[in-house]
Amino acid sequence: MAIGIWKKKLQKAILQVRNSGLNIHKQEQVINVIKRQFLKETAKMNFASFCGYVMKAPDGQFWELRDFHIDWCERVQKGQWLAIHASAESSKSSIMSIAYPLWRLGKDQNVRIAVISSTHAQARKFLSATKEYILSSPEYREIFPEVKPAIKPNSRSKTDKWCEYAITVERSAIMPDYSIQVFGVGGPILGSRLDVAILDDVLTLQNTATPAQREKIIEWNDNTLNTRLVENAQYIIIGNAFAQSDLLHYLADDEKYTYLKYSIEPEDELDGHIIIDWPQRYPVEKMEWEKAHNPREYNRMRRCKAIQKGELDFAEYIEDAIVSDIKVPDDALIYTGVDLSTKKREGTCIIDIADCGSYNVVIDIEYGAWPAKTKAEKINEHFAKHKSTVIAVEDNAMQADHIEWMNAAGFKHLPVVGVTTTSAKSAELDTLAVELESKNWFFKAPKEHNRLTCKCNWCKLLNEIASHPNYPTNDGVMAWVICSRIMRTSSPKNISVRSFDLDASEEDTLLKNPKPKFHFGDYYLGNRISQKRGFLVVPEYVDMVKWAKEHLEYPFLDDGFEAPFEDSKFKLLLDDMVEFCDTLNVTSTTPSDFQ
Ligand SMILES: [Zn+2]
Repeated sequence: MAIGIWKKKLQKAILQVRNSGLNIHKQEQVINVIKRQFLKETAKMNFASFCGYVMKAPDGQFWELRDFHIDWCERVQKGQWLAIHASAESSKSSIMSIAYPLWRLGKDQNVRIAVISSTHAQARKFLSATKEYILSSPEYREIFPEVKPAIKPNSRSKTDKWCEYAITVERSAIMPDYSIQVFGVGGPILGSRLDVAILDDVLTLQNTATPAQREKIIEWNDNTLNTRLVENAQYIIIGNAFAQSDLLHYLADDEKYTYLKYSIEPEDELDGHIIIDWPQRYPVEKMEWEKAHNPREYNRMRRCKAIQKGELDFAEYIEDAIVSDIKVPDDALIYTGVDLSTKKREGTCIIDIADCGSYNVVIDIEYGAWPAKTKAEKINEHFAKHKSTVIAVEDNAMQADHIEWMNAAGFKHLPVVGVTTTSAKSAELDTLAVELESKNWFFKAPKEHNRLTCKCNWCKLLNEIASHPNYPTNDGVMAWVICSRIMRTSSPKNISVRSFDLDASEEDTLLKNPKPKFHFGDYYLGNRISQKRGFLVVPEYVDMVKWAKEHLEYPFLDDGFEAPFEDSKFKLLLDDMVEFCDTLNVTSTTPSDFQ
């Protein structure tokens, strides 16, 4: 009997109960029994029914599928190749990575399935749930009694053993492949062929941060994973949105895949999102809180809106940081940063920054297309005007020539230090964004200029920063990065009394910075470091952060404290706080970036 006929039968039976004259409470009871019966009868032929009959939520209740879940079930059962961008906590993993392999295995014990996640550990969790159903779910055994572990203690074949990352069930075919294997994205694929590949949350902010990383995952997908798929295989990828050019977006443009994206905001229907209406899962109050607290993460996790191509790093905070009459104490140490360029374009930039203790102020900025001699004179001019403690110059082969030339031209007295930024640039930009947001940076710039039309040095710098990384030039941003890096690694005491000679190695004195500069007190929810880790903020964390700041200290030594919170949640938060401090402190002390 086809599923359609079963559904008609069910409706008819429910109607009979409704008209039976039983009281409403009794009606519900009877209908529930009829529904369970319907699910049981159809679970084998219909994946959605299987989910409803066998699968249980953590609270022990059987799943109640929403309409969009049923739509997924129908599509996946038809064998469609799916690329699904779904909101966080929409049960996509439970359906695709646990229930679907179970059902496919019940239908055909010869099937070979791979479940792939961002990490091996995450993928193993899915498999552990799958095993649990096979071994101990009475409902699963009722529907698919033929699925039994192929465990032969004396067998020499690897596939006869169940392990953390792979299982094999009793089957008729003889083949070197596991029934289900799990692994992290980019990892090795065991055996030779796959009938089903399920990619579940393989993308993270970490592995999609740069174009090269995104490219690498796409390459692995195309040239490794896809070459293992047999003819008529099925491919399913589900996840959250990250960068615009990541694997999910890449597959979305391919006609082979049915691409579906979701949102919990009704207005997103206009952009082609399917709206999830599920107030029990996404309570309005909680969502409003997330939206207000961390809109970027809310857009990504709940509305499936990828971080825009090069989403602006500083735009939100720059206006508040422009303070024309900001106070700079007389004894503030001044640092000068230089980004060098050829004379062919106005790309050499000199920036001067005052370290005012609890905050920094950019006090001067100049761009120019200068020949070598003028460059040296300009740097000398800034040094004389601001009495700079250190002049930080980006260090690479071309610039080493400049510095040598400066020495030869009689500017050897300048306290020049070379800074290599290549590896630390993006970490430094993150740190600057965190600090800008926390009001640690100010620009002593004219506020009244119209930055759309003004061509002055200040307006150019502020435009570069506000539109970073989309502005056509970034020389000023680079000078800022170079200068702030040297400020982080310098201890004012040993710098102020000495001048630097390029020939001498000053690394040791420059880099000693044993005390962490950033503590738990600097932590705040929704910070960029947490965002990059994909840390989801929930309202409960507000009190936890407060408590942690009062009772715990960074560097954090785990010596048996007792927090008045649920352990696992608090641990998650604490990990994030430690990661936040670790990241910022590493950024400010990494010695390997100096030469
Ligand atoms: Zn201007």
